[in-house]
This record gives sequence, structure tokens and C-alpha cells, in this order.
Amino acid sequence: MRVYNFSAGPATVPEEVLQIAAAEMIDWHGCGMSVMEMSHRGREFTEIATRAQADLRQLLGISSDFAVLFMQGGAIAQNALVPLNLLGQRKSADYVDTGAWSSRSIKEARRYCEVNIIASGQADHYTRIPRQSEWHPSAAAAYLHICTNETIGGLEYHWTPETRADIPLVADMSSDFMSRPLEMRRYGLIYAGAQKNAGIAGLTIVIVRRDLLGRSHPLCPSAFDYRIVAENESMFNTPPTYSIYLAGLVFQWILRHATPDKNALEAIEARNIEKARRLYAALDASAFYETRVAREDRSRMNVPFFLAEPRLDELFLAEARERGLAQLKGHKSLGGMRASIYNAMPIAGVDALTDYLRDFERRHG
Ligand code: PMP
Repeated sequence: MRVYNFSAGPATVPEEVLQIAAAEMIDWHGCGMSVMEMSHRGREFTEIATRAQADLRQLLGISSDFAVLFMQGGAIAQNALVPLNLLGQRKSADYVDTGAWSSRSIKEARRYCEVNIIASGQADHYTRIPRQSEWHPSAAAAYLHICTNETIGGLEYHWTPETRADIPLVADMSSDFMSRPLEMRRYGLIYAGAQKNAGIAGLTIVIVRRDLLGRSHPLCPSAFDYRIVAENESMFNTPPTYSIYLAGLVFQWILRHATPDKNALEAIEARNIEKARRLYAALDASAFYETRVAREDRSRMNVPFFLAEPRLDELFLAEARERGLAQLKGHKSLGGMRASIYNAMPIAGVDALTDYLRDFERRHG
């Protein structure tokens, strides 16, 4: 029996997508081969990759001013590839520090350039996102980097920063990519690993404004040079074919959520808002559970919470597992619990969790 899987990533995949992948596993559309066995340059896989990119562009409304790259190496590799590709003649970049993942980006970028931390939530223990009025951007930065959703701390931007025209906004969207509509024209580059809202590990999606291509450092590996990847339609080297196929199935699944009055991502966003509302309401209703993030910055994707009695943590997790609520343990750096409720988590999964929260408190509170 499948459980409700609250893992932060790799994370739950829509069951419908897994069913399609299972049915097509051995023989894709009657071609007598599995997707895993196809040449990435063959007719069949070209069709799969082209459709995946077209669906992604449709969902996010991405114009031809932007290149869509299917890469590997995860967001962690992008932490190095962003400065390697975007610094050009400039020597520094601006970063906003909102928690574990932006700190990780900053640490890696320091290997390549001078990093200006133009705002930080550290003094507030990363419980709020500094407002743009508190930022101190520099004039000579090559780009400004943010993490739109801190997967560990559970903070999410519910606004898009303004940047100067010559300083592109770069965003690590690993954990809220495809969870809501996006104003792509406000960004120079976004990147995300696929293993949260776009399928499975192995694929890193990069969307970059074309005028930013061609300024890479001479030592940037060719396979990770955005211009080269773009010119070769992500086929400079063998791309992660099965992960691209799976992402394509997820994009089709998202597209099926469109309603007469909402496009697909608006409908997905509405459902994500409702799921987050139900979960935070259950947590707020009781002093037995604690959340630490400022309300206006709460993530809709990752919800860290703490039991008032940490000695009950193990029991909470064990009983949850017995009820089919899996992977609720918080990140080791914070402790406590974390429920990740990405697109593929059904409302019924959130309701099962809130029922359990009330029931556990009744018995142990
Ligand atoms: N940034 C964020 C916001 C993340 O959530 C993660 C993964 N949890 C990463 C970066 C690192 O991604 P990867 O392990 O795919 O390199």
C-alpha cells in the first residue's frame, strides 16, 4: 500500500504519473524499447524531450527570450555554475541569505567571486525573510541571488524582488518551482532540481535569459557552459533521459489541472494554498505544536514544526509511520518535524496528517 510521503526530496510523485511510467516501462508507445534504452538523439527521445520543453514553456509562459536547459549536477552544481557562467567581467555578486540553502550557495560562490551578503536573516535565526527595503545592493554586482524557498527552514518569498536592469535576478527555486505561476521576465536565471515538483532526481532545470549567455569563464567545463548547452538543445552530452521523460509526464499531469477559470499553475497554486492553510491552521490551533517562521514568510511547500515535548518525537514518528504518514522527521540541523507538501501531495494526505496531529495531542498532550 502506498503511504502519504512527506519527504523533502526526492519526494512523492503523482501516483497517476507512476502508473503511466509503469505501463510504458518496457515498451514505450509500441516502439519496442524502454525510454531508458533509447538513443538520446533518436526520433522517439527527441519527441519526448521536445514535448517536455514545450509543455514546460506553456505552463510557465516562457518566451523565446529564454533558453530552457536540461542539465545534471543538481542545484549544488548550479551554485558554482552560476558564477562561472554569469560573472563575465565583473568580480562580485550579491546574495540574500535566508537560511541553509542560500548559505550553501554563498559558500560555493565565494570560491569564484567576491560575495556581498546584501541582507541576512541570520540574526533572526532565519525565521523571516528580510524585506527589500532592508537590502543593501551593490552597484557592480554581476547578478543578485536569492533562494525563493528555503526547504529546511520553511521560508518562502511571496513577492518578487525588484532589481536594476543591468543586475539580473537569479533564483534557486529547487523546492517551489512549478508550485505556482511565475513572472519569468522578472528573472535573469532560475534553477531547480527536478526531484521535488518536477519528477525525479538526476535532472536540473535551468531557465536563462538568452542575452546572459556567452559570458562564461574560460575554465567553465563545456558540458556546463550555458551557451553551449543551449546551442546543443541540452544534448551536448547525454542528458538524464529517463528523468526528462518523467518530468514530461509530470508537466502533462500539471496541465490536466487547468479549469475553465484558472490555468494549470493557477489551479495548482490554489490547491497548494489550501493545503498549507489547513496544515498551518492545525498547528496554530494548539500550543502542543510550535512553528517558528513569520506568518507572511511561511512556505507552502515545506512546513517545519516542533512538538512542545521533544521527548515525544520518536513516538510521534513511529505512530505516524504506522498510520501511513512517512518521512516526517525534520532536517537534522533543526530537529523536530517537517512536512513537505509539494504539488503531488493530495489534500487527503494533508487531512490525514492534521487528523493525526489532533489525535496524537489528545492521547499524549
Ligand atoms: N537548494 C534547495 C533550495 C534545495 O532544496 C536543495 C535540495 N534539497 C538544494 C539546493 C540542493 O539540491 P541538489 O541536492 O539537487 O543539488
